[in-house]
Amino acid sequence: MIREIATIGLGSNLGNPVDQIERAVEAIDSLPLCRVRAVSGLYANPPIGPQDQPDYVNAVAEIETALAPVPLLRALKGLERAAGRSYTRHWGERMLDLDILTFGHREMDDPTLTVPHPEIANRHFVLAPWLEIRPEAELPDGRRVASMLEAVSGHPLRYVRAMARQPEAEAAAPEQGEAPASPRAAEPATTSWRHS
Ligand code: AMP
Repeated sequence: MIREIATIGLGSNLGNPVDQIERAVEAIDSLPLCRVRAVSGLYANPPIGPQDQPDYVNAVAEIETALAPVPLLRALKGLERAAGRSYTRHWGERMLDLDILTFGHREMDDPTLTVPHPEIANRHFVLAPWLEIRPEAELPDGRRVASMLEAVSGHPLRYVRAMARQPEAEAAAPEQGEAPASPRAAEPATTSWRHS
């Protein structure tokens, strides 16, 4: 069975965003043919769309999956619906947003799915948590996550805390309130979750 490494962006700014993101990571790990390999900490930041909405909490997870890209997207959309997401407005508030950032080294532009996600380079709240779990990460075209993050620096982003549960073999988290200065390398070996 072919297994690919995919990177998932998670976001929420309604209800209890921290709780919803933590539950979403567990739900992704429970999807058929999916296994979470690494999860970043939780990062708070102001909305990029309409400003009359609460701040977001974002995180990034790296998964291993035997699903094809479109079935994976469908499964993630199912989790969004299960979390109570309903459409409000463009870039509007949401209970849960799950994006496929990358899917192996694939580049595809389908009516329902574009990978790599076209907004990666503009989103500090994607790049910082991704760099935290995978400092050497790069897009299929060779652009490095570290370089893209430097280019969008200056956006307010506050590290909240590590996820309550994460794959074993994760290194220590940065101090609360600080984005990690030197990102940690994580090479989790299993999905046996532990409470921090
Ligand atoms: P969103 O507003 O993030 O829920 O995304 C709206 C639509 O974008 C989804 O219904 C997807 O069909 C489409 N889409 C295209 N590329 C992606 C991607 N890489 N990850 C998630 N959604 C995507």
